[in-house]
Amino acid sequence: MDTTRCTAAHDEDPTPCIGPKDAVTIVDKLGTAVPACENHGATLLASLYDGRAEPGTVPGAATRVFAAADTTHPFPWLADALRTEPGQLSNAANRAADQDVDADAPRDPKELEERLEAEAAEYEIEPDLFPPHLWTNDR
Ligand SMILES: [Zn+2]
Repeated sequence: MDTTRCTAAHDEDPTPCIGPKDAVTIVDKLGTAVPACENHGATLLASLYDGRAEPGTVPGAATRVFAAADTTHPFPWLADALRTEPGQLSNAANRAADQDVDADAPRDPKELEERLEAEAAEYEIEPDLFPPHLWTNDR
């Protein structure tokens, strides 16, 4: 039995993959792409600034992942995380509160990296626990 999870699964996320591990491709703002199952694709997309879902091996998966990510809070396995700032809430929750989650997102890759590290510190998780291929360009 294959017990490994897809490359989009965060080390701290306890949930299993759902469906093929390359059902969808998640692309971050810097253009880094990783194959993902539908569960972890939605979680990762919900946790990225300006990420997107592209078709993988499963027809319709990218659409389902996009829809699921819309209502998923960033880093959803952090059950005790503060959920008050736009960056801590799902896109759907921000729309309901009339907030723009990406309004203050850095446009410069270096600033984005610094912001992500700062947020990792705020969430009290190690930046290197992010899927490393998504947060660095040294693949
Ligand atoms: Zn997965």
